[in-house]
Amino acid sequence: MNQKIYLDNNATTKCSAEVLDAMLPYLKENYGNPSSTYSFGREVKEAISKARGNVAKLLNACDDEIIFTSCASESNVTAIMNAVQNNPEKKHIITTSVEHASIIETMKHLEDKGYDITYLPVNEIGQIDLIQLEGAIKDDTCLIAVMMANNEIGNIYPIKEIGKIAKRHNILFHCDAVQAVGKVKIDVKELGISTLSLSGHKIHAPKGIGVLYINSSVQFNPLIFGHQEMNRRGGTENVPYIIGLGKAVESILENDYQSNVEICALRDYMEEEILKNIEDTVIYGDKKNRMSNTSSLAFRGVNATELMLMLESFNIFVSIGSACNSEIALPSHVLVACGADLENYSPIRVSLDKNNTKDEIDIFIRNLVNVVNIIRKRGK
Ligand code: PLP
Repeated sequence: MNQKIYLDNNATTKCSAEVLDAMLPYLKENYGNPSSTYSFGREVKEAISKARGNVAKLLNACDDEIIFTSCASESNVTAIMNAVQNNPEKKHIITTSVEHASIIETMKHLEDKGYDITYLPVNEIGQIDLIQLEGAIKDDTCLIAVMMANNEIGNIYPIKEIGKIAKRHNILFHCDAVQAVGKVKIDVKELGISTLSLSGHKIHAPKGIGVLYINSSVQFNPLIFGHQEMNRRGGTENVPYIIGLGKAVESILENDYQSNVEICALRDYMEEEILKNIEDTVIYGDKKNRMSNTSSLAFRGVNATELMLMLESFNIFVSIGSACNSEIALPSHVLVACGADLENYSPIRVSLDKNNTKDEIDIFIRNLVNVVNIIRKRGK
């Protein structure tokens, strides 16, 4: 069997060795409950505080503005429901048509309850129009929810400008920053963000741990009642995962975003070689405002599912659409929103990380060229 080449890091990342090392003592010997008042518990509580401090530093937030959750989906739902509960007289929300399922599905739920949701359209490169966004604001708008970076096409959205609009109109602004963390510098104060979510498993920590940032000026109603997390999120803390997340964040701070420069160079090399070697290739998204690691690629007449499966037979893993959508094999809502010609150009998503090498990318390109040729010949 060929070596495994994993090119789906927007779906999830490998837990790093330093994260695992940091977590293990909290599964083995330091298993105390952080709520216990004796030293065996207090030591664990201190370790959680350190992890919280790291996350706060990453976001330029205060420690007590950080809540640990079970995942970013929970953080997104909590932030939206909080905005709604705090403004019972306001029934309008603005979001985009390219958000993650945890946002879109919460909006649909609220629509069923009588809320008026504006799903901002995007242009052919997946960007929103800020004039349209501001024009959509109504007297009863309680929330603007826009992601920082898109998981499928990698677009980065104009968060600072949206923060200013939200502030001007005194509206809460929630930002799903799951894909942006570690790739884009985030200063929640400068960006005017009210609430923000992030997820451990996109930054080399385990799956099943998330963060919700809540600006101290925002009134907060918990989704899960209980005494932990300063009465804001009940449930005994997932200590090893919180420690792992804290370590992953520490690595981002130490690296100071340098690995993104290398990842971007590798992604750009890959795209150049593909464009050179495969005719009728399309790269979706906003190439001027895109995450360093993401490439959404389509080849005329090549079915993405078939392509993905053939690459899999060479032990190369790419995705079609997002991980959450790919099981259902629905056309990507993001590319549908972009008005993409999915009939002729159905995309695979390649998302790199610091563990990918040029050798891997060269093997991927070689196989991709062959497989695209085979599929195209078959189709003739
Ligand atoms: N938001 C975005 C943009 C994502 O890509 C994901 C995960 O794919 C999530 C939210 C959900 O994160 P989690 O898996 O931690 O619930």
